[in-house]
Amino acid sequence: MTDATDVVVVGGGVVGLTAAVRLQERGARVTVWAADEPADTVSTLAAAVWYPTRTDADPRVLRWAGETYAELGRQAERGVPGAVRRPTRMLLRRPVDGPPWWAGATGDLVVEPAEAPYTALLRFTAPTVEMTPYLEWLRERVGAGGGRVLRRRVDRLDEAFEAAPVVVNATGLAAGRLADDPAVHPARGRVVLVANPGLTTSYRDEENPEGMTYVHPRRRDVVLGGTYEEGLWSTAPDPEAAAAILRRCVALVPELAGAPVLGERVGLRPARRGGPRVEAGPGPGGGRLVHAYGHGGAGVTLSWGCADEVARLALDG
Ligand SMILES: Cc1cc2nc3c(=O)[nH]c(=O)nc-3n(C[C@H](O)[C@H](O)[C@H](O)COP(=O)(O)OP(=O)(O)OC[C@H]3O[C@@H](n4cnc5c(N)ncnc54)[C@H](O)[C@@H]3O)c2cc1C
Repeated sequence: MTDATDVVVVGGGVVGLTAAVRLQERGARVTVWAADEPADTVSTLAAAVWYPTRTDADPRVLRWAGETYAELGRQAERGVPGAVRRPTRMLLRRPVDGPPWWAGATGDLVVEPAEAPYTALLRFTAPTVEMTPYLEWLRERVGAGGGRVLRRRVDRLDEAFEAAPVVVNATGLAAGRLADDPAVHPARGRVVLVANPGLTTSYRDEENPEGMTYVHPRRRDVVLGGTYEEGLWSTAPDPEAAAAILRRCVALVPELAGAPVLGERVGLRPARRGGPRVEAGPGPGGGRLVHAYGHGGAGVTLSWGCADEVARLALDG
């Protein structure tokens, strides 16, 4: 293996690793620098269900979401570790006048009437991934493509230009400081994990006035959510908040009653006012800096579409 690198991707979460894979597929020699082990990234905590959570109705976001939907669906068919397609039932409470703006990305969404207090039921198939095996698979793909994932923390993005002429900034929430971007802020998410009593369908009641509510089954457990708390940095456990999540989820899906609680997880989504920043600019010494951060609650949902765009920005100019 040679040390020569065309692109350094700073950040080894889902955004950085998918970008690294796409860059390699385009022929670039890639090194990923990540300050944390995968298990310590926000990406590990993601539920991680395809859904453009709290994104704006922006054509770019729709394109990324659609491309990722298709890619994750193909991966589920191929048996990629952790990737599956799950039926979803999403209950709405606000007046509805047709399918949501992102419906076209799914291909199979239908809107049905629902009983009060709901206004409508959306049924669609959502690709879903279990992040621990999936991040490992992504790392292995980078390695298989001749790249390396190194444990390295930068104080400034300029440091990466000493190793390569093109640098991708996929540092999530840390990009607020590294790219001096005041629009970046945390959106805290809290989930409770319970043993799976046999569920295979995802449920969402995001407009619940008592708090955002979702139930996402995985192979062995179910992710119960949740919260979306902007500007809050503490990741301390909160037994009351966890109990409230459990109550709301059992009310939505009664089969969950009595399911053994396996734990609570809290993570800071890398949110950004104005949406994800995926754009290129000049770097030191004639280099190119490509930003890819600020994916908030939709980093998995937008990952492969963004990765394709990062590869274009990095390699095509
Ligand atoms: C509870 C919860 C549930 C979620 N559910 C979903 C879901 O269902 N669907 C979905 O699409 N999304 C979901 N998300 C959001 C998703 O997790 C994020 O959008 C996504 O993980 C962001 O990925 P990222 O790669 O940008 O950031 P991260 O995973 O935070 O990765 C950032 C990387 O940058 C590295 N880094 C940071 N600073 C430095 C530095 N100075 N030097 C070098 N490296 C650095 C870190 O070590 C890390 O490797 C959820 C999030 C939470 C918290």
